[in-house]
Amino acid sequence: MATVKKVLPRRLVGLATLRAVSTSSVGTFPKQVKIVEVGPRDGLQNEKNIVPTPVKIKLIDMLSEAGLPVVEATSFVSPKWVPQMADHAEVLKGIQKFPGVNYPVLTPNFKGFQAAVTKKLYSMGCYEISLGDTIGVGTPGAMKDMLSAVLQEVPVTALAVHCHDTYGQALANTLTALQMGVSVMDSSVAGLGGCPYAQGASGNLATEDLVYMLAGLGIHTGVNLQKLLEAGAFICQALNRRTNSKVAQATCKL
Ligand SMILES: [Zn+2]
Repeated sequence: MATVKKVLPRRLVGLATLRAVSTSSVGTFPKQVKIVEVGPRDGLQNEKNIVPTPVKIKLIDMLSEAGLPVVEATSFVSPKWVPQMADHAEVLKGIQKFPGVNYPVLTPNFKGFQAAVTKKLYSMGCYEISLGDTIGVGTPGAMKDMLSAVLQEVPVTALAVHCHDTYGQALANTLTALQMGVSVMDSSVAGLGGCPYAQGASGNLATEDLVYMLAGLGIHTGVNLQKLLEAGAFICQALNRRTNSKVAQATCKL
């Protein structure tokens, strides 16, 4: 029993030390993070019911209004394969093009984390390669190993990460990438999305949760959290579903 009493104060001292360490490591994070909002494409393309085009357009406009610098608007895939994206031309025509906002229609999508593949894409002229854990099984240790390998081949400025939250690891994995200098992160408003090939796969990392964490770390994103929450509430209502964002759940007044 006496040992327990002795151990306890030591542990508290340990915590204080840890806190000091974490404050200094914050200084090594990127000063600014670019969030790539993938909800309208990656999120909605996994919806079974066809989302009306005006709903997609309004969502994209609300996300732009919230200050997201990049909003993945749609995908030029065959409607035979992804019927949800059949209205890509109408969506692109209908959205307000906010100055300074990019609306990419497709990102390279490849399976696995092979450094060789990443190097090939980079040498082919991809200015930004989004490393995707689309089934969300990775953990921070795996993220660290993968990034260490990839960083041998391509500069960190060419990388983005794309994490799904199937096993609840998305925010931790994204933080690991941030600690390694990655400053472009994919996320999806309200945590929309899932993977039709991964059983029980939940959505992407919720943009609201990412913005909240980055704000807490003092990292600039340019995103207005309140407006983002409104965009999330809008799409959840339109889809008649509950948000996957913890921040949205915590701040919901209802
Ligand atoms: Zn995804």
